[in-house]
Amino acid sequence: MRWAKGNLHTHSTRSDGDIAPEHVSEWYAAHGYDFLCLSDHDHLTVLEAPASVQKKWPLLIRGQEVTSRSVNVHVNGYGLGKEVEALEGHDDVLQTLQTNIDRIHAAGGLASVNHPNFRWAVSENDLKRASGYTFMEVYNGHSQANNSGGGGRAGTVEVWDRLLSEGRRVWGIAVDDAHHFTGEFSSERSNPGRGWVQVRAPKLTEAAVLEAMEKGDFYSSTGVKLPELRVSKDEIVLEIDPEADARYTTVFTCQNGNEVSSADGLTARYKPSRLDRYVRATVLSSRGTRAWTQPLFLSE
Ligand SMILES: [Zn+2]
Ligand SMILES: [Zn+2]
Repeated sequence: MRWAKGNLHTHSTRSDGDIAPEHVSEWYAAHGYDFLCLSDHDHLTVLEAPASVQKKWPLLIRGQEVTSRSVNVHVNGYGLGKEVEALEGHDDVLQTLQTNIDRIHAAGGLASVNHPNFRWAVSENDLKRASGYTFMEVYNGHSQANNSGGGGRAGTVEVWDRLLSEGRRVWGIAVDDAHHFTGEFSSERSNPGRGWVQVRAPKLTEAAVLEAMEKGDFYSSTGVKLPELRVSKDEIVLEIDPEADARYTTVFTCQNGNEVSSADGLTARYKPSRLDRYVRATVLSSRGTRAWTQPLFLSE
């Protein structure tokens, strides 16, 4: 099974992106993406085109960013059968978050909690109390995502580990949240190409990609490629496809984000202990990029 590369969060002129959805699709096709979700704010962007045009685009996953502006709670829905109306006008973050998740389910979609630290809107406690979401963004390429946390607020990966440590099954995704395809590309702007997922789907259809993702059969990346990733209760093994002379360290972590093993070089392996509640790997590149594998739960 080959890896399929996809970005699950991007905008077009159907909301506040700067180019038309057809051109967004062309950008991703030209940069080697196999699938894409045009997750416009409060708009289910579905492109109609003849097959001859569609085959020039990545596979398009039907999705939407359900956006409650009153509390800055944004939830992506993937595989939606219809447009979802965001709960608006409430000042209760948890109620808004849960309602949007439930509405995404009612429309046949999988829910992902977006950029929790954007305007510091969604706290660790909100994420612990909410239910029914399959994914959370551990990396979002928008310039105001505050992925790293700071000033007393946990980073997104740290929050993810705290959820996993409570036995929550939630997968961590990396996304672009791209808005700016024209003009200068800089860290101040929300440009494409920064965060993506690599999914092990048996075929390139929306159903197959989302089914593999729902099972956690994927990894998230900001630049590190893993041609090989085998995860079982006996052993986790991964291989890194190096970028020129970059160097790599793989860190295996278990509950509370505690490090249980690390390895330098282009391969890493770890034999999980029965005492670990879960194990996951983070690959760190000397370029500053990363890959995150999904947790293996050992207590099941
Ligand atoms: Zn958003
Ligand atoms: Zn967005």
